[in-house]
Amino acid sequence: MVLGNIKEYTKALKEQFKDRIATIGDAPKLAIIQVGNIEASNRYIKNKVKDCEEVGIIADVYQYPEDITEHELCENIKFDQEHYDGVIVQLPLPPHIREKAVVAAIDPLKDVDGFHIDSPYPPATPGGIMMYLKHCNFDLTGKDVVIIGRSNIVGKPLARMMTDADATVTLCHSKSKLSNHLYGADLIVTAVGKAGFLNCYPIHVPVIDVGINRLENGKLCGDVDFENVEPKASYITPVPGGVGPMTVAMLMQNTVTAAEKKIK
Ligand code: NAD
Repeated sequence: MVLGNIKEYTKALKEQFKDRIATIGDAPKLAIIQVGNIEASNRYIKNKVKDCEEVGIIADVYQYPEDITEHELCENIKFDQEHYDGVIVQLPLPPHIREKAVVAAIDPLKDVDGFHIDSPYPPATPGGIMMYLKHCNFDLTGKDVVIIGRSNIVGKPLARMMTDADATVTLCHSKSKLSNHLYGADLIVTAVGKAGFLNCYPIHVPVIDVGINRLENGKLCGDVDFENVEPKASYITPVPGGVGPMTVAMLMQNTVTAAEKKIK
């Protein structure tokens, strides 16, 4: 099984979003909340703004100082969101601010990252992965999927979505005996955040590489050690240019949907 080309797919999706926005008439508006000035976050936000502009979504960035209190931030979010179809908060937040409190400050109907339990939107990264697999006609029914990494934004929601799609999911973490689980998997998803993590397992199945890691030479890479694994896996999503663009595509789709719902 060879997975499809993500670059071509996201290009086609952007054309669909442009058409939907033309039908709405008004440009959908997305607020991106940033706290502090982390270099990686700056880069992710820049990519989101660029993609949004390309399809006709207005994306405004609200950058707050690192020492803002949780209360002040939540109050600002409640105020800022009035004028937007969608609101997202760029993670990570400084340690003194609880993610849970910030997510709770966002109107669930505007939570286009899908973090809130009452958000009607698929969470962006797991939703992007599901959308991509559907595009590739990768039917999850009856498949054995191993997800490595159990975070609240990737592993856990993805496990739920894949289970709902009739896959049998094994959710692994740092205490798992990984090699016991990988054998026999039909699909592997790695969301660990360690360069070269997936290196010596006998992989003959597609791998969705969610990890984003920066090497000493400045290059970005995923969790898969491409040199040792790539010839064995039938397809590995690239980093950069894989799950990242699919995540932004899902975010844009959710924002367009939010704007469509507003005019109904
Ligand atoms: P996290 O740090 O919250 O969780 C990492 C998970 O990996 C944990 O559940 C931990 O148990 C597991 N883990 C750590 N070491 C392990 C080991 N040796 N064996 C098995 N499991 C192990 O991470 P996160 O927020 O889910 O992000 C994971 C990676 O995905 C990061 O590199 C992050 O940058 C990337 N990410 C990418 C996107 C995207 O859009 N492409 C979105 C979210 C996260």
